[in-house]
Amino acid sequence: MKQENRTKITFPSYSANEAFARGAAAAFLARYDPTVPQLADIKTAVSEAVTNCIVHAYPDTVGVVTMTLAIYEGRRVRITVADQGVGIPDVKKAMEPLYTTGNPEERSGLGFTVMQSFMDGVRVISHPGRGTRVTLTKELAARV
Ligand code: ATP
Ligand code: MG
Repeated sequence: MKQENRTKITFPSYSANEAFARGAAAAFLARYDPTVPQLADIKTAVSEAVTNCIVHAYPDTVGVVTMTLAIYEGRRVRITVADQGVGIPDVKKAMEPLYTTGNPEERSGLGFTVMQSFMDGVRVISHPGRGTRVTLTKELAARV
């Protein structure tokens, strides 16, 4: 698949950077004229993935989060959000709706469910103690 454009940003896991990552994804994709609902879906999925790095990957520290955005021929968008944090021991279980290891008063265990419903594809690779990479894909609707 031919790559048409790509970018990569790296930032510390400060909660302020969740809005930055969401905005950066929107700015990168603006050139490709996504529909408003599709852009909203992508921003929400990015926000969930980055929030997970901030909250879960680095619970008591500040670590590095790397987001790559790429667009391939056929208007296929591929976004990765990666951390070098604690990792996920059981990815399948972590992706189940309502599963959370967070504070139940703050977290609802629906982040991965939201990503899956708003994107075409969600893939998670994680190594406990070494980090997690979430890959989000979506095909943008054709514009005339
Ligand atoms: P919500 O997203 O609804 O606020 P949540 O973050 O707990 O709650 P999910 O986003 O679905 O729910 O994540 C499920 C669980 O997967 C988390 O509770 C956490 O245990 C684990 N997890 C997710 N992302 C990461 C990550 N980047 N590093 C380590 N653990 C993670
Ligand atoms: Mg979450």
